[in-house]
Amino acid sequence: MRITRLLPVFALVCFVSDAVSAPQLRPVLITIDDLPIASGSLHSEQVDRERITTGLLAALRKHGIEAVGLVTWEKVAQDSDFRLLEKWLSDGHELGNHSYAHPDYAKTAQEPYIADLEKAWAGLMAFLEPRGRSLRFFRFPFLCEGETEAKLTAMREYLARTGQRSLPVTIDNQDWSFEEPWVTAVRAGDRKALDEIRDDYLAALRLAFRHHEERGDDLFGRQLPQILLLHSNEVGASLWDDLFTSLEQTGHRFATADEVLADPAFSEKCEFVAPFGCGLWDRIRQAHKEDQAKADVAALLKAQAEAWSAGDLAKFCEVYADDAVFVSPSGVTRGRQEVLDRYRRRYPDARAMGKLRLDIIEMRPAWGIEVTPLLDAVPSRIHALSVVARWTLSYPDKDPATGLTLLVLQRPAGTWKIVQDASM
Ligand SMILES: [Zn+2]
Repeated sequence: MRITRLLPVFALVCFVSDAVSAPQLRPVLITIDDLPIASGSLHSEQVDRERITTGLLAALRKHGIEAVGLVTWEKVAQDSDFRLLEKWLSDGHELGNHSYAHPDYAKTAQEPYIADLEKAWAGLMAFLEPRGRSLRFFRFPFLCEGETEAKLTAMREYLARTGQRSLPVTIDNQDWSFEEPWVTAVRAGDRKALDEIRDDYLAALRLAFRHHEERGDDLFGRQLPQILLLHSNEVGASLWDDLFTSLEQTGHRFATADEVLADPAFSEKCEFVAPFGCGLWDRIRQAHKEDQAKADVAALLKAQAEAWSAGDLAKFCEVYADDAVFVSPSGVTRGRQEVLDRYRRRYPDARAMGKLRLDIIEMRPAWGIEVTPLLDAVPSRIHALSVVARWTLSYPDKDPATGLTLLVLQRPAGTWKIVQDASM
C-alpha cells in the first residue's frame, strides 16, 4: 500500500528530471579565413588593421575560444602584418595555410596551384617553426578542392606529403559579403544602416547554422560538431561578440580543432569533384546521392537484362522513356514503342534473343550548382546518369555476340528511364 502510494511521486520525479536534463551542447570550432585582414583593399591603413585584429581577438577571448586562423601569405607584406599574426599566436590561436595568392583551384592548373601553396607553406613554416609552432591545417580558397578526380587526388597527395590536413567547413555562409556595406555605413556614420546590417548578419548566420546542422544531423542520425567559417574583417570585429553570445544561447559551446576533428564524421571518405566549393555535409550528402543513383540504375539495368534473358521484350523496353532515342550502326529509332517494334523484328523469339549480360564499365552522374536563398552555392539534384557498358548475348548453339553501349538515363517523374541509347 505504501509503495503504491509512492509510485506516482517516483514517476513525477523521473518526469521532472527528464524534462530538466539539458540537451548536449553542440561543439563548434571557429575558423577564420584570409588572415591577417580580409577585404584588405578596404583596410590599407595599419592603424585600421590593428584595430580590427584587436576587436576580433577580444571577442574570441571573451568567449574563451581557441580558433584556427588561415593565412593568405601574399597579404603578409609588411613587418606590421607579422606583428598581427604574432597577436593571434600569443592569444593561443593556431595558424594554418590558406595559400599564397588565394587561387581558385577550378580555374588553376594543378602545377601552378601547388607551386602557389609551396610558396605559402615555406613562408608560414619560416614564421611558425622558430616560435615552436607547427603547421597542421590547409584551407582551400573558395573551398574548391578540384573539378576533376585527378586534381582532387593530386592535392590529397600533396597535403599528405607536407603534413597538412585539409580543414573543412561545415557551416558555410556569406559573412564576407557584409564587410563592404558595414565599412561604408561606419565611414558615413549611418547608425540606422549599421543596425540593419547587424540584424541581417546575425539572421544570415542563424539560418546558415540551421541549414547545415539539419543537413549534417540528418545524414549521420545524431548531433554533429560543426566548423564555422568566418573572415577576419571589420564587421566581424564589431559583431562577433553578438554572434558568439547568440550561439551560446542556442545550444552551442566552443571547442578546439582536435576535439571537433576527432568526431568520426570528419573521417568519412568523400570524393566531391566540382568546380565550386561548399560545406562538408552538402558534399557528403551529394556523394551519398551519387552512390544511391548509381545503385538504383545498376539494379534497373540488371532487372532489364533479366527480362531480356526471360524472353520478355515488353518488360525489357519498359525502361525506355516514351521519347527515347535509340542509335545503332543501322540508324536512329525514336520513341519507346518504335524501339520495342525494332527489337521484335530483329529478335522474333527467345531463341533469337539468347541470354543478355550487361557489364557496367563506367557511370557518370550529371549535376550542377544551385544557389540557396542565402546565396550559398550547393550541389543541385542529380539530373542524369550516363552509363558505358559492354553487352554480351550468349546462345546454347552458337557463338556469343558482344558490343558496347552508351546509355543516358533521366528521371523526369521520379523513376529512372533511358532517354538515349547508342549501342554498337
Ligand atoms: Zn579565403
